[in-house]
Amino acid sequence: MTTPSTSSLTERLVAGPVICAEGYLFELERRGYLQAGAFVPEVVLEHPEEITALHHEFVHAGSDVVEAFTYYAHREKLRMIGKLDLLEPLNRAALEIAKSVARETGTLLAGNICNTNVYQPGNPDAIAAVTQMFTEQVDWAVQAGVDFFVGETFSFAEEALIALEVIQRSGLPAVITLAVHQEPETREGWSVPDACKRIADAGADVVGLNCIRGPETMLPFIEAIVRAVDVPVAALPVPYRTRADQPSFQSLRDPAYPDPPGGRPFPIALDPFTCNRFEIADFTRAARDLGVAYYGVCCGAGPHHIRAMAEALGRTPPASRYSADMSKHAFLGSDAKLLEHNQAYGSRL
Ligand SMILES: [Zn+2]
Repeated sequence: MTTPSTSSLTERLVAGPVICAEGYLFELERRGYLQAGAFVPEVVLEHPEEITALHHEFVHAGSDVVEAFTYYAHREKLRMIGKLDLLEPLNRAALEIAKSVARETGTLLAGNICNTNVYQPGNPDAIAAVTQMFTEQVDWAVQAGVDFFVGETFSFAEEALIALEVIQRSGLPAVITLAVHQEPETREGWSVPDACKRIADAGADVVGLNCIRGPETMLPFIEAIVRAVDVPVAALPVPYRTRADQPSFQSLRDPAYPDPPGGRPFPIALDPFTCNRFEIADFTRAARDLGVAYYGVCCGAGPHHIRAMAEALGRTPPASRYSADMSKHAFLGSDAKLLEHNQAYGSRL
């Protein structure tokens, strides 16, 4: 069955909050289809069925958007792994996979561009290279028929502004989100609300933050961004328990396992810091109270996080059919049909 998407991003934002599930890199790494380190999504070509399945899982859990998995599928990353010949086929395949799920489920199809790791302030060669990288990816996405673009994980606001400019040439809406590392500012030293205001003033349809920071250390910025801009605001934290003294997921240290390979839990030993679904729901309600319009969870997200987010926004996605009901648990439940000797043993579990 094909259900064409019936409204644009702008119309959906007017109607209510929009959820965009992402974090594909970490989820596919956990599943054994993507290598941590270079973090290049070759899985798109090697196991396309896994991308299709993950897109479906996220829509089932409540995502309103299928974002093409072209994060880190850019020229610099493919050069890094010596597979530049895969650049175009990988991008086109990721777009077609996302498109097929979006059109089948009536969700929005988003193109994606991201931090290049090439950008350097004041370096004209770097700026030209970044512009070229964005342009080729945006062109492929436009040809695939995306409904809007996500430009994300920019720690340089100026790189985000270049991304916005390239997206604007397509005439499609742009969601632009910054990534804030340990220091509470962009890498060029702009305050976060000021950077978002500049991006909004330059014409972004949605501005905000994604990745790097967990709910607790992202939320204070969100409050300031909502006050600073007059466009819809996005909040897509990582689902990890970052805190004031370790505000980014790269800076987290685990006293229970102090010396993991690589010297820090990031990226593959972060499990003990993972937010439970109630923490994601709490974040969602807090963000909604601040006026956030565009939601998601970034690296580390699983479908259960997205379902918690959707339910906190008052939705009942298909996955809600299976949301927890402990009343019939053999030992911890309350149902009259349960056996009393097991219920009595419940406190000893
Ligand atoms: Zn992320």
